[in-house]
Amino acid sequence: MSGSETQWLERIRALPRAGGMRIMNVCGGHERTITMAGLRGALPDGIELIPGPGCPVCICPEEDVFEAIQLALNEDVILVAFGDMLRVPVNVSKAAARTLDQARARGADIRPIASPTEAVEVARGHPQREVVFFAAGFETTTAPVAAMLVEGVPDNLSVLLSGRRTWPAVSMLLDSGEASFDALIAPGHVSTVMGPEEWQFVVERHGIPAAIAGFSPESLLAAIYSTLRQAHEGRCFLDNCYPDVVRPGGNRTAQAQLAEALAVTDANWRGVGSIGGSGYSIRERYAHHDARRRFPSYADDARKRAGEMPPGCDCARVVLGRIYPDQCRLYGKACRPRNPIGPCMVSDEGACRIWWAGGARQPNGAANVRAAD
Ligand code: SF4
Repeated sequence: MSGSETQWLERIRALPRAGGMRIMNVCGGHERTITMAGLRGALPDGIELIPGPGCPVCICPEEDVFEAIQLALNEDVILVAFGDMLRVPVNVSKAAARTLDQARARGADIRPIASPTEAVEVARGHPQREVVFFAAGFETTTAPVAAMLVEGVPDNLSVLLSGRRTWPAVSMLLDSGEASFDALIAPGHVSTVMGPEEWQFVVERHGIPAAIAGFSPESLLAAIYSTLRQAHEGRCFLDNCYPDVVRPGGNRTAQAQLAEALAVTDANWRGVGSIGGSGYSIRERYAHHDARRRFPSYADDARKRAGEMPPGCDCARVVLGRIYPDQCRLYGKACRPRNPIGPCMVSDEGACRIWWAGGARQPNGAANVRAAD
């Protein structure tokens, strides 16, 4: 640990605490730092760091992945998607393609990309072909998609959008009365785009401590310290522990482009169900670039079932912070990164994959990464 990390830990240890504290994060980047830096094991007993709904690949609804697979298989298109999405399984018979990777093996033209810019490059490079960008992600991914539409894209490029907004998921958890956390570490990158004010409701409506963190162990420890201190002093406020990057109001240009190109809608989250105001759809004026309008529909409403996950998979409870990854009975047994059963073991931002990469190799045996055990 660096000197400043050690100092934050000393401050945390020096704080008087009456009881346990469960602090949820909603960002795969935060979870990766917490796990890889061994922060759980370094914190005093009773402080739990809970991974929450911070992985866009994990919560991308099964029906959207199914739609992308069918579009790629049945239409003469090049389908581009972020690499993680290619391995996300859907529930179909063994004879059918379960992932975009399997659809590619059956002849579909599916290509991994790393950014929306690459989608535009593929479309420009193949002007005679239709190119569909399967765009699944949170605000940080969806904002560049909106910018792309506003600024103009080739005629042959359309978007199969599966964009999600993070704060409504946290709001839903807190409103449910079954939230498994006492404090929140809010996502830094989302706040950079949308503004820190989006997270004010956590303290104002629900009266629990909250802090925005960056992605270094030092920033996360500062945020953890802040929430513990807020709880100790009995005064909650949204603390910006990432002030160099997160500015009041966020990125107004990105917000304007989001509003111009996309409308806020209710949206399904895999394993969770529909969350009010948590998704985006492409506005009518950009219909020409909306894959759902431009191609025959492969939407299968029967797939829109809350809790839809592969049999035996506990990703839904992991995503909601109700269990830790190693408490799934398939963790490290049937489900490993090379043979993922659920989406949380597929993505680099999925809690199960992160825990596995961090060395938690035994089901229910990762006490070394969890201070509260
Ligand atoms: S171990 Fe696999 S099956 Fe279990 S919750 Fe994680 S991803 Fe889902």
